[in-house]
Amino acid sequence: MEEQLHNLAEKAGQELQGAGSLEELEKIRIHYLGKKGELTRILRGMGSLPAEERPKIGQLANEIREELEQQLARRTAEIKEKVGQLRLQAETIDITLPGTSFFPGKKHPLTVVQEEIEDIFLGLGFSIAEGPEVELDYYNFEALNLPKDHPARDMQDSFFIAPEVLLRTHTSPVQVRTMERTAPALPVKIIAPGKVYRRDDDATHSPMFHQVEGLAIDKRITFGDLKGVLDVFAREMFGADTRTRFRPSYFPFTEPSAEMDISCVMCGGRGCRVCSHTGWLEILGCGMVHPRVLEMSGYNSEEVIGFAFGMGIERIAMLKYGIDDLRLFFDNDLRFLTQF
Ligand SMILES: [Zn+2]
Repeated sequence: MEEQLHNLAEKAGQELQGAGSLEELEKIRIHYLGKKGELTRILRGMGSLPAEERPKIGQLANEIREELEQQLARRTAEIKEKVGQLRLQAETIDITLPGTSFFPGKKHPLTVVQEEIEDIFLGLGFSIAEGPEVELDYYNFEALNLPKDHPARDMQDSFFIAPEVLLRTHTSPVQVRTMERTAPALPVKIIAPGKVYRRDDDATHSPMFHQVEGLAIDKRITFGDLKGVLDVFAREMFGADTRTRFRPSYFPFTEPSAEMDISCVMCGGRGCRVCSHTGWLEILGCGMVHPRVLEMSGYNSEEVIGFAFGMGIERIAMLKYGIDDLRLFFDNDLRFLTQF
């Protein structure tokens, strides 16, 4: 019987050592130490032993039970520890793995440039004015000294919606609407940014594009003021070294009229492919507001005078970023748009 107990102790000890989970440990415990387990089964034979041997066997059985229970507790602790570590390992976050990427919204390059232009003129005391994109013929043409039979209307191939209604071909109607609203009060100092529409479509023209026009009206304004304002704008926009020049031109709504060039942003004026080896780039049209335009909008052209200018935002953005195809702005290709 003593031998049986020692065998049991040895076998149970080996099994406990080999167990890999808490479930296995519990099975082993029930098998050897449970109420109907091996140890109980052996001790049931105690009755057949001589009375003097019984205490000895009883003590041995108790020692073995105690020993096995200690071993069981130790193995339980070990396995719990191991399970905990495995779980930690499984839940570990590898901070060197690439993260989940997402695209925060970005401003379109044309918006960036428009806001930059607005900031410059706001700093010069201009405010921002807006008007409708679907416009009356009167505001788009007639009030700007472009009567129905005027040949210069051909320069602005238009999308007509009804005989007297069209998509505005420039933001100049905002100037007219602002003058009508303000006259005869002085001064007027606004810029009008926005979308405009013409029947053009190639690498440098889009049927929808953006303009910023400016208007200043007061009692004493000279062509020198116009040049000064635009000179500041050019240097703020394209860099302090930028030079400007004005060439005589023709617009129905200004007199005299001029085109403003800036020294080439690519070659600094030495001549390159972008500036057709002239060293200059044309960026906007301008002039002194035509007396007839002032009169039609409610101002006395004998008492007030003003200047106006207009530029394409796409043109400015193309020069600023060195983009050679205007259609890139409207293709919605993220490979292009995310560069800005
Ligand atoms: Zn150049």
